[in-house]
Amino acid sequence: MPPKEQQLELQSPHRGWLASIAQIPRGGIAMALLLRVVLFSSVVTLILTVLQLTLSYRSERASLESRFGEIDQATSRSLGESLWAMDSKQLEEQLDGILRLPSIRAVEVRETPSPSPAFAIFRGERQTSAAVVKEFPLFCCGTHPQHIGVLRIEATLADIYRDLAAQAVVILLSNAAKTFLVAFFILFIVDHLATRHLLDIAASAASVTPGADLPPLRLRRLRVEGDELDQLVDALNAMRERLRQHAIELGNANARMAAILDNIPDLAWVKDANGRFIAVNRAVAAANGFAEPHDMIGKTDFDVHPPELARTYLRDDVEVMESHGRKRIEEPHVDADGSMRWIETIKTALHDGQGRVAGTVGIARDVTERRRAAETLRETQMELAHANRVATMGQLAASIAHEVNQPIAATVTHAQAGLRWLSAQPPEMEKVAEGLRRIVKDGNRAADVIGRIRELLRKTTPRNETLDINEAIREVIEITRGEAMKRGALVKTQLADGLPFIEGNRIELQQVLLNLVINAIEAISGASDGAREVLVSTGKADAGCVLVAVCDSGPGFSPESAERLFAPFYTTKSTGLGMGLSISRSIIEAHGGRLWASANPPRGAVFYFTVPVHPDFSS
Ligand code: ADP
Repeated sequence: MPPKEQQLELQSPHRGWLASIAQIPRGGIAMALLLRVVLFSSVVTLILTVLQLTLSYRSERASLESRFGEIDQATSRSLGESLWAMDSKQLEEQLDGILRLPSIRAVEVRETPSPSPAFAIFRGERQTSAAVVKEFPLFCCGTHPQHIGVLRIEATLADIYRDLAAQAVVILLSNAAKTFLVAFFILFIVDHLATRHLLDIAASAASVTPGADLPPLRLRRLRVEGDELDQLVDALNAMRERLRQHAIELGNANARMAAILDNIPDLAWVKDANGRFIAVNRAVAAANGFAEPHDMIGKTDFDVHPPELARTYLRDDVEVMESHGRKRIEEPHVDADGSMRWIETIKTALHDGQGRVAGTVGIARDVTERRRAAETLRETQMELAHANRVATMGQLAASIAHEVNQPIAATVTHAQAGLRWLSAQPPEMEKVAEGLRRIVKDGNRAADVIGRIRELLRKTTPRNETLDINEAIREVIEITRGEAMKRGALVKTQLADGLPFIEGNRIELQQVLLNLVINAIEAISGASDGAREVLVSTGKADAGCVLVAVCDSGPGFSPESAERLFAPFYTTKSTGLGMGLSISRSIIEAHGGRLWASANPPRGAVFYFTVPVHPDFSS
C-alpha cells in the first residue's frame, strides 16, 4: 500500500469559483440541474406574477369604484344646486375639481329630462377605449328634491394598466435576477460539492490499470465527510486494491505457469480460439527460432511454419475445438539434416470459466526413442512368444507324433489292403479305388496337422488378417486332441453361430488358445475325481468384441492368485516356465482386447478373452 498522505494529482490544482463555473461541462449534472431550476423558477414566477397582477387589478378597480362613490357623495348635492341655478361657472369649477382626481378623464353635467337644446356642461376629453363610465342622478332642492340632471363621469383604465405593467416588469426583473443568482449559486455549489469530485473519481477510475501501483484516490476537500462521495471513493479504492491484488495473483499464476511450462522438456503451448499463441514454453520458442517465449506470443502457425503445415495444424485445432475433446497425432518429421523423428502431439480443447471453448492446449514430444523401444519390445515379445510356442509344441511333440502317426499307419493299412485287392483274380478295382481315396484323405489329414504345427512354429510377422475365431479354435483343438486323450480329458466346444469376423494375427491368437487349452488339460490331469472336461465356447461381448471362454473342471486357483497367474515366471508346475499367461495377455492386449480369469464353481477355472470385431463387420 502506498503511504496515506500521497494524493492523486487529478486536475488543475486550484481554480477560482468563476473559473470553476466556466469549466463545468456543458452536458453535466450541474448544467442539467441549472436548466431545470431556471425552467421551474420561470414557470413559478410567471404564475405568481399573473396572480399578483390579477389581485392588483381587482384592488385598483375597487378603489376606482369607491372613488366614484366618494365623488357622488361629495359633489351630487352642490352640483344639483348649481344645476338648478344654471350657474355654469360654478359647475365648471366643480367639474374641474373632479377632473383633477386620478384616472378621471371626462365629467359632464346634463339637465334631465332633456329639453332641446339641453343645458349641459362638459369638461375633459371623451374616452374611446379602456374606460369606465358612471352616471349619477342629481337632485334639488328642499324637502322633496326632484331629479333634475345627471352627472356623467368617464374614468380611464390606462393608468391601472400602466401600473400593472410596471409592476409586472419589476416582479419579472427582480425574479429573473434572483433566479439568475440562485442558478449560479446552485451551479457553483453542485460543482463544488459533487461534480468536480465525480470528475476526479471518473478520472481515477479511468486511470486504473491492472497491476499499476497507484496511490489511493483522495477527494480535494479538507476533511472526510463520510457522505456518499466518500463512500464511493472508499468503494473505488477497495476495488482498486482488490484489482491490484488480483493482478499480482494473476502475475504470480502466470509466472508459475511459465515456470511449469519451461520445465516441461516437451513442447507446450496454449492458443486462443483464433489460433494465436497466448503461452509457449522455452522449448517451443527455441524449436521455432525465437530467443524468448514472449517473442512468439500473438503469432499464429502461419507466422511460424510453412503454409501447408500451418493449414494442417489449423485443421487439427478446429477439429479439437469443435469436438470439445482431444486429439493425439503421431507423425514423422524430417529434420533439416535429413534425419527422421517421430513426434507425438496431443491437442486438447481449452475451456473458459463459462465452459465455452476458448482455444487449444498442445503438448508435443519426440517419441522416436519410445517408438524404437516399443518396436524392440514388440520384437522381443514376438521372439518370446515364438520361443513359448516352440516350447509348447515340444511339450506336445509326443502326442502330436502319435496323432500324426495314426493317419500314416492307416495309410499303410489302406495301401496293403489295396495291394491285396489288386492281386486278386480278377482285381477288385472298386475296392482299390476306395482304398486310394482313404489314403488321400488320411494323407491330407496328416499334412493338415503338420502344416498347422509348422505354422505355429513359424516366426510371425505383425500382420493382421480377417479371422473367423471359431475356425481358429477348431484348428487348435485338432492339435491338442492327442494331448487331451493322453491325459484322459475331453475337450468340448460350444461355438456361437454367425459370429462377426475379427481382425488379428491368427498365429498369435492360436498361441493364446493353445496356452489356455493346454493349461486347462494339465489342470484336469492333476484332478483325481469328477468330470474331466474342458469347454471352449464363444459368443458376442459388449463394446463390439467377440468373447472366448476356456472353462475346465480342474482344481482351479485361489481368488488372491487370480492376478498373479498373469505375472511373468509365475508357475506352480515343476517343469513350467510361467510365461504362457503373461505372453497371452500381452498378445490379447496388443489386439485391443482383455484376458482375465475367474473361478468356475463348483470347481475349476475359466479364462476369458475378448478381441475387437473387424471394423468392416462391426454394427
Ligand atoms: P506355466 O503353464 O508354465 O506354469 P502359465 O503362465 O501358462 O505358465 O501358467 C501360470 C500358472 O497359472 C500355472 O502354473 C498355474 O498355477 C496357473 N494356471 C494356469 N491355468 C490354470 C487353470 N486352468 N487352472 C488352474 N490354474 C491354472
